[in-house]
Amino acid sequence: MSNTYVLEVNNLKKYFPVKTGVFKRTTGHIKAVDDISFKIKSNETLALVGESGCGKSTTGRTILKLYDSTAGEVFFNGEDIMKISKSQFRHMRKDIQMIFQDPFSSLNPRMTVKELLIEPLATHKIGDSAERNRLVIEMMEKVGLSNEQLTSYPHEFSGGQRQRISIARALIVKPKVVILDESVSALDVSIQSQILNLLIKLQKEFNLTYIFISHDLNVVKHVSDRTAVMYLGQIMEMTETDRLYTNPLHPYTKALLSAIPSLDPYEKKERIILKGDIPDPSNPPSGCPFRLRCPMAHERCIVDKPEFLEQEEGHWVACHLYTQ
Ligand code: SF4
Repeated sequence: MSNTYVLEVNNLKKYFPVKTGVFKRTTGHIKAVDDISFKIKSNETLALVGESGCGKSTTGRTILKLYDSTAGEVFFNGEDIMKISKSQFRHMRKDIQMIFQDPFSSLNPRMTVKELLIEPLATHKIGDSAERNRLVIEMMEKVGLSNEQLTSYPHEFSGGQRQRISIARALIVKPKVVILDESVSALDVSIQSQILNLLIKLQKEFNLTYIFISHDLNVVKHVSDRTAVMYLGQIMEMTETDRLYTNPLHPYTKALLSAIPSLDPYEKKERIILKGDIPDPSNPPSGCPFRLRCPMAHERCIVDKPEFLEQEEGHWVACHLYTQ
């Protein structure tokens, strides 16, 4: 793997079996992640965006080995972590952390904040008791919480404060990569921006690389360097975030962007309404996965699956409109 990349994902697939009948035979597969590839540089933020069920969260969980991959490679520190056992991965686990949407489900309600922050240090055998206390106090300050709150329980905090605790818990072990799975989606807009600003500040301070999973293109715009747009388990378009917003190529990206309300009252924006719903991932359409909803679909899209190709440097798209 190239030294410039922290994480390199090659042809990753995660299929879930569909079991039917009395004998629960496997009769098909849900292709939740279907052959995706991307690389992330150190200190970079790559956003994975798309509608619910597009495979973005499954991608994050598969990278973290919470799910076994069906195929593909994920290189981290020069090692394909898809090939190593879960017990071998345990010692690398501290380097790749995940922060979830709902801190309530990830924070044990019977533990105080101090216990919640000590736990990952103890799991990874970091420091003695005095060092752990020092790290806890330092981390509370970094996430904007006070030390008087160390003896409080998760239910005594607001949603935004709970997410600060989750961030502290993930960062206290000094990871290299953090996967943020809809981490601000449940928060009010004003709190969202506070947490996003905190994440940006901590990224610089801790030299972090983020995979930012979100359905919200507005949020992504402010935090990510590059964005990958997913649909039916595949990446449809990937490029620098600024370029994606100013020059989207894929019809799906164009439709998603057209749905974002403009802040400029004089800007005339035509909303592209997509027909139908996302198809059943266990029975995807032939050819282009987006063809049943695409306003630009043509004959070729029914039979040929478009390749994911680099149209201009760093701008990848899977669409026949850009191939001969
Ligand atoms: Fe639309 Fe065809 Fe492009 Fe797919 S390949 S996005 S159906 S134009």
